[in-house]
Amino acid sequence: ALGGVGWIGYGVYQDRHPEPQIEADPTKKTLVILGTGWGSVSLLKRLDTENYNVIVISPRNYFLFTPLLPSCTTGTIEHRSIMEPIRTILRHKRANVKFYEAEASSIDPDRKVVRVIDNSEVKGATVETEVPYDMLVIGVGAENATFGIPGVRENSCFLKEIADAQLIRKKIMDCVETAAFKDQSPEEIDRLLHMVVVGGGPTGVEFAGELQDFFEEDIKKLIPDISDRFRVTLIEALPNVLPSFSKQLIEYTESTFKEEKIDIKTKTMVKKVTDKTVEAEITGPDGKKEKVVFPYGLLVWATGNAVRPVVKDLMARIPAQKDSRRGLAVNEYLVVQGTRDIWAVGDCAVAGYAPTAQVAGQEGTFLARLFNNMAKTEALEENIRDLSGSLNLKPGNAAEVSREIEDNERQLRRIKDVKPFHYSHQGSLAYIGSEKAVADVSWFNGNFASGGSLTYLFWRSAYLSMCFSTRNRLLVINDWLKSKLFGRDVSR
Ligand code: NAD
Repeated sequence: ALGGVGWIGYGVYQDRHPEPQIEADPTKKTLVILGTGWGSVSLLKRLDTENYNVIVISPRNYFLFTPLLPSCTTGTIEHRSIMEPIRTILRHKRANVKFYEAEASSIDPDRKVVRVIDNSEVKGATVETEVPYDMLVIGVGAENATFGIPGVRENSCFLKEIADAQLIRKKIMDCVETAAFKDQSPEEIDRLLHMVVVGGGPTGVEFAGELQDFFEEDIKKLIPDISDRFRVTLIEALPNVLPSFSKQLIEYTESTFKEEKIDIKTKTMVKKVTDKTVEAEITGPDGKKEKVVFPYGLLVWATGNAVRPVVKDLMARIPAQKDSRRGLAVNEYLVVQGTRDIWAVGDCAVAGYAPTAQVAGQEGTFLARLFNNMAKTEALEENIRDLSGSLNLKPGNAAEVSREIEDNERQLRRIKDVKPFHYSHQGSLAYIGSEKAVADVSWFNGNFASGGSLTYLFWRSAYLSMCFSTRNRLLVINDWLKSKLFGRDVSR
């Protein structure tokens, strides 16, 4: 325990007392980084910022620890506990980094400039401008896929950003309070208390689990008169949920959901959404298709990713990106195909891996190593050039200078080759409600699949250790304790 306190104390001290920073050198190459998500922030964390003139641009001035976002929808975790201000992160870098809170609207690879717009509520005299770059890293992520299904954009909640989780939290209680309103008809109570989740990937599954917990542990106790009417339905187009997990864990999840009374509708494809209903097509065991209508109070749409407009626009400008559909095609060094000075990381890049936080994080870390090496290489090469030049000017020191050149060359040989990016999968984890989780983990080349309460403790400690800062970690522990002891806060 003493060790733990010491560790936390050290973390807190470090957070509050970063080393003094050196000014960025504007004569160095300008490295522009778009985004403040997993890819960009992992890059920033490891990047030696003194080697470049670094500029970060993102409409979001914080990093969001997305694995715990579903817990924010029910108040198990308060949203600020999983946000880390980018300013705090940048303050810990050795050399000063500029940050602009703005959205990149387009990228011109010929002129090497990024067009940026300030979309915030308070506007200054400059709202739109251009930022030139020598090197550009695109880590802007993706947007929510709706597949053009009518009514989805207007009527659903998504689960990607903090604002989405806050909206869901408000809407759940809005549905509950409206259902409990005097003289509400039974059909209307049923509709209002029917929570529909579309998409049986990890996002939909984790959210459905959290929602059922919230209801069982809190709402039911506080508003018992409507408690038998609350229902959660999870709709998935494929034959099973969590397609990326092993068969055993899929079965475990489905049976746990059955116990939790979450209704899973597989082979069910949503075709249309209105403000009160979801219309879908169910494929029966005989292959016959049947139309069904689900009245709902809350609809959460979690069917994966689509390409952002700024990325689409850039792809259209680069002939080599013509055949890429899901995002920017990159080579094994994460260089955007058809360019020399643009890299892409995370969900906006197509490198052959799933669009997960883990992949984005490793890509960012890889780029940091690559850029740190490139800077060292360039510095050594320049040094060698200078020394070779001085060899003729100062013949007296020839032996010493030659030795130094050799030394520089030796160092150069040692650092020159960075191996191509290789993703190392640490496993997948998902919370499935009622204090149970599933884990597909690879350890020592062996696979290990588990589900249950012990896995839940593993899930908790893994996510806790992955939190960005000591501050985040303390806040998350506090939230967990608070909701366990006093229940979740149901005020809107
Ligand atoms: P996803 O792409 O993993 O799943 C979306 C699901 O929606 C698919 O199974 C698809 O069949 C279904 N779907 C699509 N259109 C539909 C329709 N019209 N009707 C019914 N179902 C439809 O999306 P996600 O869950 O948001 O995850 C996105 C990425 O993030 C994935 O790579 C995922 O692995 C990762 N992720 C991981 C975790 C974790 O590991 N705990 C948590 C969240 C997200």
